Amino acid sequence: MQLVRNSFVIKKFNIPAYYRSSVTGRIKESRRIKDLRKQDFSPTVLDFGPVQFYLARHFGFCYGVENAIEISYRALEENPDKQVYLLSQMIHNQEVNEDLQNRGIKFIMDTDGKQFISWDVLKPDDIVIIPAFGTTLEVENLLLDKGIEVQKYNTTCPFVEKVWNRSEKLGEESYTVIIHGKPKHEETRATFSHSAKNAPAVIVRDMEEAKQLGEYILGRKNQDEFFKEFAWRHSEGFDPREHLQRVGVVNQTTMLATETQAIADYFRQLMADQYGSENLKEHFADTRDTLCYATNDNQDATYELLETDADFALVVGGYNSSNTSHIVELCERKFKTYFINSEREIRSNDEIHHFDYHRKEKKITNHFLPSSRPVKIILTSGASCPDTLVDRVMMRILGFFPEARSVEMLLAELV
Ligand code: SF4
Repeated sequence: MQLVRNSFVIKKFNIPAYYRSSVTGRIKESRRIKDLRKQDFSPTVLDFGPVQFYLARHFGFCYGVENAIEISYRALEENPDKQVYLLSQMIHNQEVNEDLQNRGIKFIMDTDGKQFISWDVLKPDDIVIIPAFGTTLEVENLLLDKGIEVQKYNTTCPFVEKVWNRSEKLGEESYTVIIHGKPKHEETRATFSHSAKNAPAVIVRDMEEAKQLGEYILGRKNQDEFFKEFAWRHSEGFDPREHLQRVGVVNQTTMLATETQAIADYFRQLMADQYGSENLKEHFADTRDTLCYATNDNQDATYELLETDADFALVVGGYNSSNTSHIVELCERKFKTYFINSEREIRSNDEIHHFDYHRKEKKITNHFLPSSRPVKIILTSGASCPDTLVDRVMMRILGFFPEARSVEMLLAELV
């Protein structure tokens, strides 16, 4: 079955039932049916009496993740006698990746490209799944040279391919491609590789690095400094004097929308100042951001969560998930926010273990539940998090409130 969502078609994917949720997933689906055109981003309030949850309007598995899960499980089913490899984590979710590993899938690399399994081990009849983030042309060619079929189980998300197409177009129009992304992230490395095939390309992580690059556009820094500051993040043969006169911006699909917009605006203004507004088109490609629909929906739904009067936020997702970290970043603007990858991180009604993504370290917080009633909690997750995990987090919290109304009672009212 296919459903029309905004201007594109959403497929219903065949993913294992244990990733589907009987609570938050049902609530989300009920909201979706009532608001097919996605006009209402307000959270669903789940009032259990002593505890209330503000459940985000959009959260959890996106098109690309469900597509990748369906293809990966199919690859296992169709090839019981072959070794099935994943180039790296299929998506940034520990539970999904562990389940695939338990079924025999092996990961060739980690997220940052560190090799676990040597390329020499791979044989032509092995199955290699390309993850939702896509891969670099170098890796794709290496696999093809080994005689490995790479298209049959290629799970590259179409929204990532859209970025590659945008970069290609920029290259055809002789623009240099500035990629706003995390330089080590698989998707950014793949986008860089595809962009660099057609055009000079350079990666900026954030506004600070965009401004560093701007210094070269303004001619305030020399090229030796460029090669130090942007080492490993520019295409081969990049000449900062020549290749920063005509630029366009694309981004990793899961960046913070407002940051990408600010970076694009910065380069637009810089080029207008440098060459005159009347010549702007010659120097800046006015492209819209290349964030995917899920990133936009999840971030817009998070802005609505910021309008609530919650006591704190729980954001569920993999600790290396880019899109989840941006949801955390938004929640932190107003609320004490706990980034957890499963309900097991809530050790008791007094202790929670959570991830500080700024410092990349785990933390322990005591007394995380306020004594006032009702306790008001924001609950949401990233695009690589199964809804069942969100259910389990909610049930874990509800377990601390024996007087709370039952889930069944609440569902009967809501869906
Ligand atoms: S977050 Fe967006 S780009 Fe990434 S897999 Fe999901 S839909 Fe695709």
